[in-house]
Amino acid sequence: MIIVMKHGAGEKAVQQVSDVLKEHGLGVHISNGSTATIIGVIGDKAKLSGVNLELMEGVDKCVPIMHSYKLASREICPQGRTVQVGDQVIGGQKLAMMAGPCAVESEEQVFAAARGVRQAGAAFLRGGAYKPRTSPYAFQGMEDEGYRLLRRAADAEGLKVVSEVISENQLDTAAKYCDMFQIGARNMQNFRLLRAVGRSGVPVLLKRGIASTVEEWLDAAEYIMSEGNYNVVLCERGIRTFETSTRNTLDISAVPVIKERSCLPVIVDPSHAAGKSAYILPLSLAAAAAGADGLIIEVHPNPKCALSDAAQQLTPQAYGELFEQVRRVAQAVGRTM
Ligand code: PEP
Ligand code: MN
Repeated sequence: MIIVMKHGAGEKAVQQVSDVLKEHGLGVHISNGSTATIIGVIGDKAKLSGVNLELMEGVDKCVPIMHSYKLASREICPQGRTVQVGDQVIGGQKLAMMAGPCAVESEEQVFAAARGVRQAGAAFLRGGAYKPRTSPYAFQGMEDEGYRLLRRAADAEGLKVVSEVISENQLDTAAKYCDMFQIGARNMQNFRLLRAVGRSGVPVLLKRGIASTVEEWLDAAEYIMSEGNYNVVLCERGIRTFETSTRNTLDISAVPVIKERSCLPVIVDPSHAAGKSAYILPLSLAAAAAGADGLIIEVHPNPKCALSDAAQQLTPQAYGELFEQVRRVAQAVGRTM
């Protein structure tokens, strides 16, 4: 449920309502919008039986949130959230541009990728150190050494690091090297992992599960947020459909749907959606036009020799050209890069 305060209701009134909620064992989330303050009530509202909040000073109305996710809902924060990663803000006017190899493969490779994506204009370096691969015989990543290389390459170029985490017991180590944890599509419903990244407080890039609905995806975000970590960015990366001409089907509709239903920023990964480098540019333009808050794109200094996802990785030069074209679309829809 959300409690909408009257226009001009003072801090004292907000505090009184919040105190009553806490006394009844409920969580409180206050959002100061430009027109009204909204108090989100977290927990079982049956605990409020006999309390009529609408009679309290400054309260305009109480509105139930009809979804299972609350903190991730739009209702609780109508103006939308931004997520801060170091000096970068995701979900504001500027698109968050993340790029780098599918997997960290060597020092030379990751430094070359970092240089290329920074020269193009990206602010985040992506790269898998732990790779949850479909086949157990495929390259599984350089693990902690991969994180260390990513950090060094990112620092050399002034970039932020976003990299996947796959288990709870690696989070302390990962937090030393990553500015943002990625939860991959295959782990979107690994609820213990979601809770653990929630407790870590580190910003999280939550990819959509391979066959997950928007509602399941937002429920997954809620797991992270329910542990007090509101720094969640959603990432649409394509879903499995009957269509086989692309690796997955990029659900571009998810962008406006998320904007309507959720307060969280949403970015798009055209690389894992398309699976083919030739499709990355048009899908990136479509994502920017649809209102995505950023793009995460695979870039490798020598895609043909990549140890994973070779067909979909762009060269740094192609990424630079894409960056300039996306900039034009971004400007057309009132965003910057
Ligand atoms: C990745 O981004 O490295 C990745 C494996 O993507 P996904 O989890 O979306 O398949
Ligand atoms: Mn990949």
